[in-house]
Parts: sequence; C-alpha cells; structure tokens
Amino acid sequence: MIPFRYERAADVAAAVTLLQRNPGAKLLAGGTNLVDLLKLGVASPHLLVDISRLPLDTVEETEAGGLRIGTNVRNSDLAAHPVVRQRYPMLARALLSAASPQLRNLATTGGNLLQRTRCVYFQDVTTACNKRDPGTGCSAIGGFTRHHAIFGASDACAATHPSDMAVALAALDAQVLVTGPGGTRRIPMPGFHRLPGREPDRDTVLAPDELIVAVELPPARAGAASTYRKVRERASYAFALVSVAAELVVHDGTVTQARIALGGVAHAPWRAAAAEAVLRGRRPEMAVFGEAADAELASARPFADNAFKVPLVRRTVVAVLRDLAAGPADSRPSDREVTRA
Ligand SMILES: Cc1cc2nc3c(=O)[nH]c(=O)nc-3n(C[C@H](O)[C@H](O)[C@H](O)COP(=O)(O)OP(=O)(O)OC[C@H]3O[C@@H](n4cnc5c(N)ncnc54)[C@H](O)[C@@H]3O)c2cc1C
Repeated sequence: MIPFRYERAADVAAAVTLLQRNPGAKLLAGGTNLVDLLKLGVASPHLLVDISRLPLDTVEETEAGGLRIGTNVRNSDLAAHPVVRQRYPMLARALLSAASPQLRNLATTGGNLLQRTRCVYFQDVTTACNKRDPGTGCSAIGGFTRHHAIFGASDACAATHPSDMAVALAALDAQVLVTGPGGTRRIPMPGFHRLPGREPDRDTVLAPDELIVAVELPPARAGAASTYRKVRERASYAFALVSVAAELVVHDGTVTQARIALGGVAHAPWRAAAAEAVLRGRRPEMAVFGEAADAELASARPFADNAFKVPLVRRTVVAVLRDLAAGPADSRPSDREVTRA
C-alpha cells in the first residue's frame, strides 16, 4: 500500500498554495482517471488536493459571444447544455462519444483535458516507459503499436492522447484558463498539449503549481456546419482509433473557412492545418477533400501495426467533409442522447 495525504482545497488560491508547497501533489477532480492510476501504481502522489467541490462548475456566455466552461463542469452536463448542443454540436458529439454515461457524470472538463495516455506500456508498471519513468525507454517502439501515433512521435515515445473532448476543443480554437502563483493566463488549444520530444512525461505546458479554472470557446461561426466522428473497435465504451472534429463554412459554392482536428493519431490533439489550407477557397467536392486529407497525411510516419490509420484517417476526413458540405443535416444531439444515466 502506498500512503498519501488528502486535503480539500477551500478555494483556488488554497489549491495553488498546496501545489506550491507540496511538489508532486496531485489535484483530484472526478477521480475517474487519477484513482485508476493510483490503483495501478502508475501514479503515487504523497498528497491529493480535492478540488471537486470548488464552485467552478458553471457554463456562462462571455461578453464576446462565446462560452466559459468551469473546470468542474461534468462531461454529461456540458454535453446536455442547450447552448453547447445548439451552437457547438461538434463538442457535444465528442463528449457523448467518450466513456460511458456513468463515467461522464463524474468526469470534469479539467480532468478530461489532463487524463493520461491509455498506452498499454504506460499503464503496465512492469514495462519500460519514458512517459511514466523517464529514461527507462519506450516499450511501444518495437512493441505493439496498433493504438499509437502516426504523427509527431519521437524516439522516446509514441503514445497517443486519449481525450475526445480535447480534439473538439482544438478544432474550435478554445483557450484554457489556468491560475498559478503569478495569476491567471490563457493557453490556446491546440498548444496546451505537447508532442513528446525528449520529455514525454510532460503531457501539457501547464506548470506543476498551476490549475485549470475554465475553458473558453470563441463565438460560434455564422453558417458553419460541424461534427465529430469517432472510429473505434466497439460501438461504445472504447477510445478512438481515429477521430475527426471538423467545421466547414461554405459560401457561394466555395469553402471560406475550415477547421479540422484529429484524435487517436498523436501525443496531442492534432490540428490538420495542411488539410485546412487546401480546402480554403476551393469548391467543396470529393477530389478536393481527398487532396486535403493527402496533404495532411504527407507527414504521417506510421509504425508496423498502425499503418491502417493512414487510409482510415483519409476515409474518415473525406466522409466527414462530404457530409458537412452536403448541408443542413442536423448534427445536434437529441434529448434522448444527452439524458443523464
Ligand atoms: C473505462 C473508461 C473509458 C473511458 N473512455 C473514454 C473515451 O472514450 N474518451 C475520453 O475522452 N475519455 C475516456 N475516458 C476517460 C475519462 O473521460 C477521464 O477519466 C475523465 O475525463 C477524467 O476526468 P476526472 O474529472 O475524473 O479527472 P481526474 O481523474 O480527477 O483527474 C485527471 C487528471 O487531471 C488533473 N486535474 C483534474 N482537474 C484539474 C484542474 N482543474 N487543473 C489541473 N489539473 C487537474 C488531475 O490531477 C489528474 O492528473 C474513459 C475512462 C474510463 C475509466
């Protein structure tokens, strides 16, 4: 048994002070990832700082016309929020594709962004893993790589980021609001999560004494069609092999704006900037969608077991763009889909 202390933070400032004074301490929100990692022996903090009762659980419209989502807003509540369903259906769909209703009832916005990789070697403390134990090596490279990265891996790590919500937030150009000893700062998504490089143990650019207080969405774009599609090994309760969050604005037969992010393919949500560049100013047709996917995939470097992700990404991107361009099919989740378990 690994002993640890537990403290409930009275407010955000108290949580920051506890993090500052106790290097290695971990924040506890819904606990659906952290508690699993404690049981597996992957995480062994000497102090758990419970932030789950801090009043950071509201969704509010911003003066700019966007949305501010408190870090403790539960994934179920966010997916069911009327403004999210109406104006950001891609985000609602991403949330609903994740985990199970029971897990979504506990999982929080901040915890979802900071959940750790599902790489089997990371979760198995008997194997070498630079992400869990820096300097020990990467068992995935040369091992079983079906679920691993095709973009941005380094020779130290090939793990993928598991959050569906984060992929939608990357496509939406959300900002993560974090508070630390120096005050509050904004970190743009993408850019919040890191590629592995030589430090795969660092998932994000968050400092050890900072915490997420909210996520902010920019105003929804007029005339945009958007959705999230997740390809997985089972119809539910499985992480993405590949996922696509996409938004398209078509005006007078021309794509005027495109935002695409991919999940299941990199150490971070992968913003498909090369694909977006191909689409802008072009006609929304199948040949252009294929060209856009190919432009993005030109930098893909698959491993032996996950080469299938290259055509899978291509087909999924093309299918999603085709459906968005076909117009007004309603991608907003129904009342039934968002009902809490
Ligand atoms: C069986 C199973 C299936 C799942 N399937 C999916 C899936 O398909 N897609 C998907 O996206 N997710 C999936 N999940 C993951 C689930 O969504 C996450 O466990 C959950 O979102 C984490 O949120 P939490 O509030 O429980 O975080 P916690 O477990 O409490 O915390 C996770 C991490 O975030 C840190 N943290 C929490 N809040 C803050 C904050 N405000 N500031 C700084 N750090 C913070 C914690 O210290 C910890 O390191 C699955 C989980 C399980 C168990």
